[in-house]
Amino acid sequence: MKYNKLFEPLDLGFTQLKNRVLMGSMHTGLEEAKDGFGKLAHFYALRARGGVGLIVTGGVSPDLFGRLTPHGARLTNQKHVDQHRLITEAVHNEGGKICLQLLHAGRYAFSPLAVAPSRIKSPISPFKPWQLPSWAVKLTIRNFMRGARLAKVAGYDGVEVMGSEGYLINQFLVTRTNQRTDKWGGSFENRMRFAIEIVKGIRKEVGQDFIIIYRLSMLDLIEDGQTWQEVEQLATEVEKAGATIINTGIGWHEARVPTIAQMVPRGGFAWVTKRLMGKVKIPLITTNRINTAQLAEDILRDGCADMVSMARPFLADPEFVVKAFNEKENEINTCIACNQACLDNIFNQKVASCLVNPFACRETEWILKPSETRKKVAVVGGGPAGLAAAVTAAKRNLDVTLFEQGEAIGGQLNMAKVVSGKEEFYETLRYYQHQLQILGVKVLLKTNFNQSNAHDFDEVIISTGVVPRKVAIEGVEHPMVLDYTEVLRREKAVGKRVAIIGAGGIGIDTAMYLIKGSEPEKGSHFLNKWHVDQEYANRGGLTSNNIKDASDRKIYLLQRKKGKPGKALGKTTAWIHREELKKYGVHYMDGAAYLRISDEGLHILRDGVEQLLAVDNVIICAGQESERAIYDGLRKTGKRIQIVGGAKYAGEIDARRAIEEGTLAAMAID
Ligand code: NAP
Ligand code: SF4
Repeated sequence: MKYNKLFEPLDLGFTQLKNRVLMGSMHTGLEEAKDGFGKLAHFYALRARGGVGLIVTGGVSPDLFGRLTPHGARLTNQKHVDQHRLITEAVHNEGGKICLQLLHAGRYAFSPLAVAPSRIKSPISPFKPWQLPSWAVKLTIRNFMRGARLAKVAGYDGVEVMGSEGYLINQFLVTRTNQRTDKWGGSFENRMRFAIEIVKGIRKEVGQDFIIIYRLSMLDLIEDGQTWQEVEQLATEVEKAGATIINTGIGWHEARVPTIAQMVPRGGFAWVTKRLMGKVKIPLITTNRINTAQLAEDILRDGCADMVSMARPFLADPEFVVKAFNEKENEINTCIACNQACLDNIFNQKVASCLVNPFACRETEWILKPSETRKKVAVVGGGPAGLAAAVTAAKRNLDVTLFEQGEAIGGQLNMAKVVSGKEEFYETLRYYQHQLQILGVKVLLKTNFNQSNAHDFDEVIISTGVVPRKVAIEGVEHPMVLDYTEVLRREKAVGKRVAIIGAGGIGIDTAMYLIKGSEPEKGSHFLNKWHVDQEYANRGGLTSNNIKDASDRKIYLLQRKKGKPGKALGKTTAWIHREELKKYGVHYMDGAAYLRISDEGLHILRDGVEQLLAVDNVIICAGQESERAIYDGLRKTGKRIQIVGGAKYAGEIDARRAIEEGTLAAMAID
């Protein structure tokens, strides 16, 4: 067995987990959706069937005030219990185990009724919370106890008490948010009383044979956060209070340190859990940016934890565990930590899904039916839209041929993957490459598709993608002018002084590539850069060291409109890109008019003043236009053709939309 540690059962005394994989809590948005519980039941059942050792649900509030949003999920009465039974029965029928996460949002509740230990507003919320009076603190503890009791009645195997990420329990633990003078504030003993009373109360309420996971904030990453000594003390007390397992939380939501985004090195926070190993006897779970079976195994072998938590990897592939067990890792659709269809959807009040697996959270609606007639399908273009179309069609038992004019599949993904911090795209390419092979798709590289090819097929899906937009600037034909594809495909050398025209996702990627190159960032470098104190000598695990990465390039990043760069990027990652631009000293210029390009460089007009940016190269990252020549030619033939991805519409095309449209096109073939 390749993954010995990962598949070692974990004995909890009164029950056993079949392996060391926890599916971490994720809010999917189905919790509040119409018929959401039926859909959630199906969603979790699939992951249980896929072999997960223990599942934790998305956060459910133990009372009205703790809900994340005014219509957020809570577990407070029999009606809720009946809804949750759908989930527990479905998971148990698949041989799985599931815990309900009890989450009180505290001052993170998006509501004017938000409550907290003290009346201090969070920097990420518009609402100033109300201070909980002492009687309400005790009531909230009782509400947690009731939530756990109802979870047991609903058939859950346990609960996870959400004590991290800056939610209510975390807010009691630190002086930044707790300035009370009663027995719930002041000394650390007082500040942790709320957490301990909740765990003790729940244990009393549910008896011994029920899992209590305590999610403990091991690294707050905020000023005035906990010290390491406090973390240890809390863990010891949580164990004494009756917890079965301690899970790791990294960073409050208001922390200005990336903790799960793509640029966070894989397994980059496992060291924090390792510090706690041996300090308590109950099992510890580690988390954050763990997305492959090998990495999970290595983390366990390295003694960092007793179990690993992965959340988004189970959106990307419900069968992750069983594929790892059967050593079919190449078949795993790897989460690339982009957040684009999961967390960003949640922030936009949409149901979560997954960029690499658009079936996620739509399992009851998007059903892949085998085709009755084995039609011959041509997919033209091997970028993300074409790959998704080809693989989905082949899974439906259609006879698929993929035409790609380039030397390799991947399209725009081949450019994204070379940017340091975006190397997860290699996994997506590996996944598709392997799927094409095992599904028997005929892949014709360096092959142009034309009208005569069309006669051989019943259906054609056009996924010819995009070409870089040409811009109308005087002097744009100058040899110093490159487009981003020439840079990211390494076709042309780039000088030390660069002006990038266009500050969207690709302009930013190009700047990062020119500064950081293609090598994955080392864990310690990343932590230093974001002021994470690896010695944990300071409160919150932050250091004040200001390490500025010297870049030997001078880069100007420009756009015509006023405003921040990367406006169209997702909420969960755009701020990280902007911070990185600052850290690396990129000169961002908005409101720029491009006058001309000459031997001296780029001439611009900004705030009424003409300026010369003396650069060696001007790189055009001004968006894209659809590549539709083949489509336009074929339309006249009367053939049944579908067009998807950037070829259909280039505006704001990204891999998420491309994969979704390619998948839907293949599903639409009758
Ligand atoms: P984009 O986001 O549309 O940005 C294009 C940039 O070029 C803008 O800054 C725009 O600003 C400028 N521009 C547009 N037309 C221009 C013209 N005629 N002359 C000069 N400048 C012009 O496009 P993109 O950066 O190519 O990205 C394409 C898609 O991929 C987007 O949806 C993006 O979100 C996505 N993407 C995402 C990521 C990610 O990390 N999630 C990374 C890369 C790309 P002005 O018009 O104001 O000058
Ligand atoms: Fe992972 Fe991106 Fe899918 Fe979210 S959308 S689960 S981050 S691949």
